[in-house]
Order: sequence, then structure tokens, then C-alpha cells
Amino acid sequence: MAAPWLRDAWLRLVTAFESNRLAHAYYLKHYPDKGSNSFIEQFTKYLLCQSKGKSACNQCKSCLLYAAGNHPDTWILDGTEASRIGVDEVRDLQKNIVNKANQGGFKVAVILQAEKMTEQASNALLKVLEEPPADTCWLISTKEPEQLLPTLRSRMQWLSIPYPEAEQTDEQTAQAAELFDALHKLTPLPELKDKAVAAEWLNTSERLASDMLAQLNRLPAERFYFPGVRERYERLTQCSWLTAPHLSQWVSECRQLRQTYQGSPGVNLPLLLTLIWSRWSHFLLGEE
Ligand SMILES: [Zn+2]
Repeated sequence: MAAPWLRDAWLRLVTAFESNRLAHAYYLKHYPDKGSNSFIEQFTKYLLCQSKGKSACNQCKSCLLYAAGNHPDTWILDGTEASRIGVDEVRDLQKNIVNKANQGGFKVAVILQAEKMTEQASNALLKVLEEPPADTCWLISTKEPEQLLPTLRSRMQWLSIPYPEAEQTDEQTAQAAELFDALHKLTPLPELKDKAVAAEWLNTSERLASDMLAQLNRLPAERFYFPGVRERYERLTQCSWLTAPHLSQWVSECRQLRQTYQGSPGVNLPLLLTLIWSRWSHFLLGEE
């Protein structure tokens, strides 16, 4: 998964599949600019692939059929251009999905912008999910998760994806720039007066590390949390020792720290975050 915010959701699905605990249906926030459609495509291909590892092999018959847009065991109801998704369309999908898989593997049904389903269509989908056919997975994206019927939602698993907000505020961008400079010892490290402030900086730290990773991987501008700070990121080219695994590690350090803090609010968040920063800083400056 190219975008860092999709990685956790991807691992969750692959792990569920590998341990035979895949749910019959997942729903996630529809956000094509940030990769939600390609996430669904990748996972569909993965499920259909006949010799997969941690991702689809791109070589087997299923992968080739999928790439050609001809795979007989996957269907898509794309509400993107439609004003609504009607009950007949859902029923057609349902008829297909109860049949045995043509290629003998999984069957995958996709609905994009499911919030456009009429009430009847939603109820038809609910019926399918109440008695889901075997070896079937529904992948559903919606712009308005809370508008789906609660009964429908209860039949699906929510895939939480921490998309970067459409736009980071100027203040957040300024924070990221300040932290980036501080890590390079151009300015002092920010002072973390209390836990609330530290929690904010923890978010900024995670996004900054994710941006630095995006920079290293030469991802396009829309993959950055703080496009406004990108010019500064050029400085990273001077740190030849900095690799993508380091930065992935930094992103997960932030996540782990957040989990620890949420689990036991007594931990000294300002101190722990400051320690992380000074370690990062030493590393960036080649002092390790
Ligand atoms: Zn394959």
C-alpha cells in the first residue's frame, strides 16, 4: 500500500484472511483522492488471486483476468456518477453472488458510495448479509457512514482509515515546519507544557514522519499531510543513511505511544515524546 494511512487497514484485512477470520462485509470511508478506490481494487485482486503472498501475485490467471477487467467473480455497483443505487441493481448483484465462483475461489462484491442506496436497496443488501453465501466478501465505501441503516452497519465491519484531513490548518502546517527545523537543530525543540499540548504534537510528529516517508518514496503531492512543508523536506536528501524502514518505524513509534497513553493516561507523555524527538534528531544529524 503506497499511502501510509492505508497500511494498517491493509494489514488488518490480510491478517484476517490468513487466519480465516475474514468478515463477510467491510465498509470504509469513500475518499478516492486519498486512495479508497485503489484500496478496494487491491484487496479485491488479492482475494481473487490464486497464489497470493502479502499481496496479489499479478501473474496468475485470476490476476490477469482482473487486470483485464474480465474477472467473472467480482461485481461492482458504482454509485459515483449515479443519483441513487436502486433495489434492482442490488438484487442483480445478489443473484450473481449466490452462484458458485467461476474460478473456484472467492467472490467479491463492491459498492461505491453506498450512501446512495435507496431504503429498499439497503434492505435488500441487509437480507444478503443476514445469510451471506460462503467465500464471499463485500467491500463497501460510503461518504456518509452514519447514513447507512444501523442494522446494515451492524452486519459489516468498519475499516477505520486515518485519511489525512482534506486540509491541515495553517497552524498544523506551521507546527510541522517548526518540528522539522527543530529535529535538524535549527531551532530548539518545542516545549511540551502539558499532556494536551504533547498529544497535539504527537499527531504532528506522526504526520511529519509519514510525510518524510512520502518524500523518500517520491510520492505525489496529494500523499502528503503538509504539502506546504515539502520544500523543507528536500533537506532529507542529505541524510543518505535515512531509509524507508526507519521512517515507517518512526510512524509506528508515534502510534504505539498514542496507544500507551490512551491505555494509561498516567504516563508522562511530554517526556516520552521529547525522548523520541531527541533520538530522531540525533539520527537525522548522523550523530548515532
Ligand atoms: Zn495472482
